[in-house]
Amino acid sequence: MKRTKILLDENDIPKSWYNIQADLPTPLDPPLHPQTKKPLHPSELRPLFPDALIAQEISQDRFIPIPTAVREIYRIWRPTPLYRAVRLERALKTPAEIYYKWEGVSPAGSHKPNSAVPQAYYNSKQGVERLVTETGAGQWGSALAFSCNLFHLQCRIYMVKCSYEQKPYRRLLMQTWGAEVNPSPTTLTETGKKIRAEHPDTTGSLGMAISEAVEDAATHDNTKYALGSVLNHVVLHQTVIGQELQQQLRSIDRTPDVLIGCVGGGSNFAGASFPFLRDKIRGKTPNLRVISVEPLACPSLTKGEYRYDYGDSAGLTPLMKMYTMGHQFVPSPIHAGGLRYHGDSPLLSKLTKDGYMEAIAYTQEEIFEAAMLFAQTEGFLVAPESAHAVRAAVDLARIAKKNNQKQIIVFNNSGHGYFDLAAYEAYMTHTMPNGEPVVNASAFSLLQQTQPLRTPRKRP
Ligand SMILES: *Cc1c(COP(=O)(O)O)cnc(C)c1O
Repeated sequence: MKRTKILLDENDIPKSWYNIQADLPTPLDPPLHPQTKKPLHPSELRPLFPDALIAQEISQDRFIPIPTAVREIYRIWRPTPLYRAVRLERALKTPAEIYYKWEGVSPAGSHKPNSAVPQAYYNSKQGVERLVTETGAGQWGSALAFSCNLFHLQCRIYMVKCSYEQKPYRRLLMQTWGAEVNPSPTTLTETGKKIRAEHPDTTGSLGMAISEAVEDAATHDNTKYALGSVLNHVVLHQTVIGQELQQQLRSIDRTPDVLIGCVGGGSNFAGASFPFLRDKIRGKTPNLRVISVEPLACPSLTKGEYRYDYGDSAGLTPLMKMYTMGHQFVPSPIHAGGLRYHGDSPLLSKLTKDGYMEAIAYTQEEIFEAAMLFAQTEGFLVAPESAHAVRAAVDLARIAKKNNQKQIIVFNNSGHGYFDLAAYEAYMTHTMPNGEPVVNASAFSLLQQTQPLRTPRKRP
């Protein structure tokens, strides 16, 4: 009988996070001050983040120990299972093996608590009393609400207006964990008031909500800001996923040919893939393909520019070098709210630019088709964000069938979709707008390549 799930023991939870900055062929371009455009001094981040997180943001240490208090909380849902998608393979009649790392088992339902917990921990340790943040689909907001509750911190959340309206149950979950939730843009901040005056009908965006949360933190002494993706320290925390995944695949004697993940700001996929990219950068696994999947409605990696840009719409955050649609880009209100971000993690962007990672984009229609097939074979109902990864895995498995290849396809399944049933309904009743600004160049044809899209630059 085929092995269906590969489990680890609680004691196998990694003891440190992996910091890929130590292994980059060339260093990251530094963040710049939003006004002076000069390299930012780390101390300038102190109004927003506690010192421990600022230190992690710029650290060049390869491994950073995970505090015991954080590992203890990780035990609630980690290590997460690795599944072999036996029934999906069967339905596709593919010779490929498909595996997925299942992050939907956390209390908030996604990978996000992997970073929310350490962020709340370091803030509480420094005596911070209140955390503020933005949330798109509500996944990050619930992860932070859950974590603040554990460390007795107050929590205020600016929730993108269209998600607030689409997802009342996410809001209720955050409120259950004690957070205050507001539809952004709000009248609670100067930035929010200004946006509302200029664009009275706006459905909101992550960029706007970030501006509001950053202003809130900068204007309250007892308050700091928490970001759920993009930044180096967030990506760092997520590497528990990839380290566990390495152990799990090793235990069944498999090495992946392809790693896939959906990308909004890049944290779940960076977390799953960076431990593997360490070997790729060192030239040990030159044929490993590492593929980011994004929505065609917000195609920063596939259609954006690689340049300095602000992290928010108002231009309050430092400038970061990344793939971006432009900080004022407002994507159409697609259901994968967690992927509606104009930029991407500078680390993931750089590794894409340098040819270690590839990227493809799909329409909503395409990803829901795959999510339905997944639910009907594997049983789990995935988040619309995660469905992007499912679609790419399915396409690759079909290509493997055509070529009669026994590929090992592994994807990170970032979360469940039990709060996204309205989106499934829209798909099933054919009322889902695709909302794409551009014509779909077929991701399928890009995936057919048997070699990585770009040749990685060699390490000097
Ligand atoms: C937030 C979210 C994402 C996108 O964020 P990343 O930082 O790119 O990982 C993906 N999947 C789920 C389930 C999410 O909640």
